[in-house]
Amino acid sequence: MTAPSIAPSTGPNTGPNTAKEPSFRESVDLMFNRAVALMDLPAGLEQKIRVCNSTYTVRFGVRLRGKIETFTGYRSVHSEHMEPVKGGIRYALSVHQDEVEALAALMTYKCALVETPFGGSKGGLCIDPRAWDEHELEQITRRFAYELIKRDLIHPAQNVPAPDMGTGEREMAWIADQYARMNTTDINAKACVTGKPPHAGGIQGRVEATGRGVQFALREFFRHPEDVAMAKLSGGLSGKTCIVQGLGNVGYHAAKFLSEEDGVKIVAIIERDGALIDEGGLNVEAVRQHMNATGGLLKGYAGATFTEDGAAVLERACDMLIPAALEGVINLSNADRIKAPLIVEAANGPITYGADEILRAKGVVIIPDMYANAGGVTVSYFEWVKNLSHIRFGRMQRRAEESRSRLIVEELERLSSDQHLGWTLSPDFKEKFLTGSDELALVRSGLDDTMRTAYQAMRAVWHGRSDVEDLRVAAYIVSIGRVAQTYRSKGL
Ligand code: GLU
Repeated sequence: MTAPSIAPSTGPNTGPNTAKEPSFRESVDLMFNRAVALMDLPAGLEQKIRVCNSTYTVRFGVRLRGKIETFTGYRSVHSEHMEPVKGGIRYALSVHQDEVEALAALMTYKCALVETPFGGSKGGLCIDPRAWDEHELEQITRRFAYELIKRDLIHPAQNVPAPDMGTGEREMAWIADQYARMNTTDINAKACVTGKPPHAGGIQGRVEATGRGVQFALREFFRHPEDVAMAKLSGGLSGKTCIVQGLGNVGYHAAKFLSEEDGVKIVAIIERDGALIDEGGLNVEAVRQHMNATGGLLKGYAGATFTEDGAAVLERACDMLIPAALEGVINLSNADRIKAPLIVEAANGPITYGADEILRAKGVVIIPDMYANAGGVTVSYFEWVKNLSHIRFGRMQRRAEESRSRLIVEELERLSSDQHLGWTLSPDFKEKFLTGSDELALVRSGLDDTMRTAYQAMRAVWHGRSDVEDLRVAAYIVSIGRVAQTYRSKGL
């Protein structure tokens, strides 16, 4: 077994403890190395899989507010073992090459783990999206997209972006339109990007998908009492206390679904300006509305205790901690003080390599990012397939299901009319069962199925091998094994 090793840092250091903390990309590489040390890959193949294939950097100018503003953007392609390559585009001032490459690598492993047939990619633009109005953002986005489209770094068969931090349906719609204008004869133009609004070629359930995936991941985890016991917990999800860091798209949906549908108590929410605490459980929807009204602030929310010390709240006792914002928030400077026995990485890379070691030594169970937040890319895959098939998602399956459903409805109606049974069907049951929002229902069940299957693949390695101590290493072993298999069968 070889000890994990890394090349010297080339990117800026993202961890707060700059003396010891590796960069984000190094952290991902170190985690990768820990897994390959337990695998038997042909010489050279591990290096081929680990390295980022290419990173394109573009600097472009846009005339805004009377002067030319220059922006820097990236699109990294980590692995093309399958094409198209896939991964979001992030808008943030903190975007840099090291980060984009780390995120692209995580996309490769994530896609392999949930078996979406994509390679890994990621993009980023150094911009504070709040600093520009909608029209300006459209100009900037179209110009960035133009640069990427020209180089096939946005293309339905080669590279398919999606939303990430700081971007959403609106930006994806602009990108799709920009591609369509530049490729007027491409009948598959809509499949050049996912996360589009449903009325512009998107799919129902994509916005909620990553948060929904976190919920399905936790539900699956709690179906295995043995695994729950590893986190020194017992019983089901209901009544568990949870701290959520970041109430953006992912954190909001995860917290909302877990509290509203699974009885989880969201005892604290941490955001940029501080944290809200309520041991009785916060109303996630009300907190989000307060944030919408205040431009993203928690302060001033009447229903809970507010503190400016968000960092301290991350260290409070709870059953589960869900970091759902930036990478590196749990690092060498605070890992030792984290009290949650179960951490669900809804964000990409929220735990640094060093922090991961400390937490593992403490016996903390970590549901790793490449699994926990794979709901987004899973539903992106459904959207891409829908775009390429040019047919409403699930239409074929629905036809077959409908005839079976009708039989069930008829039988239930017959039974409910039996006076002796003493129960009746709710008035809208038939309507919902036969004509319910079929696309959304299909997306959710497809996602649920994907999250269950992927968990079981990780779990089989976790429990099946005495040298595998944790879910992260198990996840890497499953995904690296699949990428290696693809290379073996098709060549480099
Ligand atoms: N940005 C999301 C992620 O990190 C989604 C990527 C996609 O749908 O392609 O997984």
